[in-house]
Amino acid sequence: MIRRLLLILVAAVSVLGGVLVIRTLTFRSRQVEAAPTTVTIDVTAAAERLAEVLKFRTISYQDTSDFDLAEFAALHRYLETAFPRVHQALGRETVGGASLLYTWRGADTSLAPIVLMAHQDVVPVEPGTEADWAHSPFSGAISGGYVWGRGAIDDKSNLTAQLEAVELLLARGYEPRRTVILAYGHDEEVGGLNGAARIVELLEQRGLRPAFVVDEGGAVAEGIIPGLGFPVAAVGVAEKGYLSLELSVRVEGGHSSMPPPQTAIGILARALERLERKQMPRGLRPATEAMFDYLGPELPFFARLVMANRWLFEPVIVRQFGSTAIGNAMLRTTTAPTMFQAGVKENVLPSSASAVVNFRILPGDSIGHVLEHVRRAIDDPRVEIRMLGFRSEPSPTSSVDSEHFRLIARSIRQVIPQAVVVPWLVVGGTDSRHFTRLTPDVYRVSLVRAGPGDMNRIHGTDERVGIENYGEMVRFYVQLLQHAAM
Ligand SMILES: [Zn+2]
Repeated sequence: MIRRLLLILVAAVSVLGGVLVIRTLTFRSRQVEAAPTTVTIDVTAAAERLAEVLKFRTISYQDTSDFDLAEFAALHRYLETAFPRVHQALGRETVGGASLLYTWRGADTSLAPIVLMAHQDVVPVEPGTEADWAHSPFSGAISGGYVWGRGAIDDKSNLTAQLEAVELLLARGYEPRRTVILAYGHDEEVGGLNGAARIVELLEQRGLRPAFVVDEGGAVAEGIIPGLGFPVAAVGVAEKGYLSLELSVRVEGGHSSMPPPQTAIGILARALERLERKQMPRGLRPATEAMFDYLGPELPFFARLVMANRWLFEPVIVRQFGSTAIGNAMLRTTTAPTMFQAGVKENVLPSSASAVVNFRILPGDSIGHVLEHVRRAIDDPRVEIRMLGFRSEPSPTSSVDSEHFRLIARSIRQVIPQAVVVPWLVVGGTDSRHFTRLTPDVYRVSLVRAGPGDMNRIHGTDERVGIENYGEMVRFYVQLLQHAAM
């Protein structure tokens, strides 16, 4: 009897082992072959133009009436002088006050246009941190092989790299077959409602349905995932949604010598504690599944075996991956209390307390799901819940099987041949969310190289881009335009 059981066990383990190994061996690389680019550019001159662009204080403020439109106008005038061919050959329109829409008309108007995006605005420098910068954030410093300043990564380098690419193609006499549209919003950092959203309306009125759209969102990660010996170029195929909720409590005030069991602060603090404890559930979504499909085959045998057999190892992967901040953000709708206000004096009971909680919504969840979850988790009628200003649902997921995804992957590998291209879920937000109405093929990537210390530079201190890296960004757009539009 025991012998028979043992035999069955051995047979079962062998079959399982066989399945795991066969799936691993047939888990083939999805990287496209690409001949290295031969495009050369004058990277020093290009870096100097980027540095000039970083000097304009095109800052996004929460209150859009605080925008300094004169700075945007000055930037526009500089672009005219820095990219003369672009401004001669392309049509340029100003949309929504300060957004720019360039049209490079293709010879064959029956072809759907392509759209390259970037944004002109930058986040403010946090007051009190100006002196922490190695080079003043709006000085446009070039030093130690880098261009320094607010917007060097997010997102002025993409804007100028695209203009450099078009300028270069014009200088070499290229004429596009397919129309190329450049869309540069001016309020991306506060949701893009006056910029990208207006541009989308305009294109829609004109009956234009882009073949595909490329915006910021993914980067070339180096040394961020421990143990990987190659750079990973992350191409965002979806992005999370956005919602901020204000929680507020109103009670009778009074003297703090005779307090009730809970003050407004206590009630609200309990609600926030419940929200942080009861997180929305984790799950692998198509964009993240696709990431594992593309990354897995490039990994050493054991890791490859795990990735190739997610039907068995999914719980392990979710637990491991979810233990990192970025992994957690890619696996669930995140909950982040970001503001808290209450109280005016130490011996006065506060009559009100309010907090803001920011949610980044996983594809598959929705604003409705989050509201329902929050009400259930807090479960306290004294806490009022209100949606604040800008919000967006998660984007649809763009296909990784489209020829457009392959074109982008090929262009990346032409410029950085060692890079492994992987689909990605963008955990922040981009202006491209407004374009998902016009086309299913929206991809979010730029060739900014990002090492472990670089993530904090985005929206933080000492934002900078490598000069050689900036050259790669330009060449990527040259290749992409040549493949897609020429
Ligand atoms: Zn950005």
